[in-house]
Amino acid sequence: MCILCPKLTQKAATEILANPGRRNLMRGAAAVAVLTGLAGMPRMSMAETAAATEALSTPVYRFPVGSFQCASISDGALTFPSAGYGANAKPEEVGALLKANFLPPDLVRNSTNSLYIDTGSHKILFDSGLTREFAKLAGPLAEALSGMGLLKARLEAAGLTPGDIDMVVITHGHPDHIGGLTDGNGTPIFANAQYFMAKAEFDFWQAANAPDDFSTTIAKKGLAALGNKVSFIAPGDELVPGIKVLDAAGHTPGHLCFEITSGSDLLLHLTDASGHYIIGLAEPDWALAFDMDPAKAVAVRRQLFDRAATEGALTFASHFPWPAIGHVKADGKAWEWQPVPWEWSLQG
Ligand SMILES: [Zn+2]
Repeated sequence: MCILCPKLTQKAATEILANPGRRNLMRGAAAVAVLTGLAGMPRMSMAETAAATEALSTPVYRFPVGSFQCASISDGALTFPSAGYGANAKPEEVGALLKANFLPPDLVRNSTNSLYIDTGSHKILFDSGLTREFAKLAGPLAEALSGMGLLKARLEAAGLTPGDIDMVVITHGHPDHIGGLTDGNGTPIFANAQYFMAKAEFDFWQAANAPDDFSTTIAKKGLAALGNKVSFIAPGDELVPGIKVLDAAGHTPGHLCFEITSGSDLLLHLTDASGHYIIGLAEPDWALAFDMDPAKAVAVRRQLFDRAATEGALTFASHFPWPAIGHVKADGKAWEWQPVPWEWSLQG
């Protein structure tokens, strides 16, 4: 019997996340619904809960990197069975690690964060989040993704007008990163932006043999809306002076991370090199169910954590607890996440 869901074996739960095909997704959705109590709830959806939260808060955290004005913006959160965060481990091992760190053992409710940088010459947004309209395309997993879709409102509430953003970087084509480029009518949200991504990533999602699942549906729809406004960037390139593209293929074929330097400050954008602030650092060899090349993803994760710890670099990660800014500390056999203290003086 599965610790995640009494109707699901542990093996089946892991298979669902490792092979998110349509049939498995139906079973996964049922598991998420049972686990979150959604199945028995009157129609108070996670999106409604998130909307209620949105009314109370504006999660945009401002911080400098040298002369660059940066912000961490939360698009909300997604929820998946914890087994997917250790696809090559036993679900009970993943649950035990979470429990030992005072977290629910069965479900991971993960932040989804975008990085914004105003260099003085450009206003750059890394990833678009996932609008609620696009989340609905996830079919049986729509409910698990319905806590997202807050990015645009939060940008606007913080005075960061989407129309002023002139560069949008798509770190990779997973729905939580590419599914917020347009509104429900297909109108681009970042109307005046040029878009940047790896060619390998662009080609992967457009290929005839792309995975037959909701991720491809959302990626194709998002990319179609961009028309001829996509420029390709490759590892080693400078996006703009001070922002260098890092090779992080593994999570997806063209997954990108970034080295951001201004003056003597360094920020590493880890994107999805690690999916969780406890699991990814304590057990770096555990693959994410959504790592397309797990061996490469593990190597990238280890290399980036090692660099961050050795250089004492400030880091940002797409799915660490918002604002997801902190340091990576070596603890002997693996690493630990040290979030930066909240600085009220920066939030004016
Ligand atoms: Zn992601």
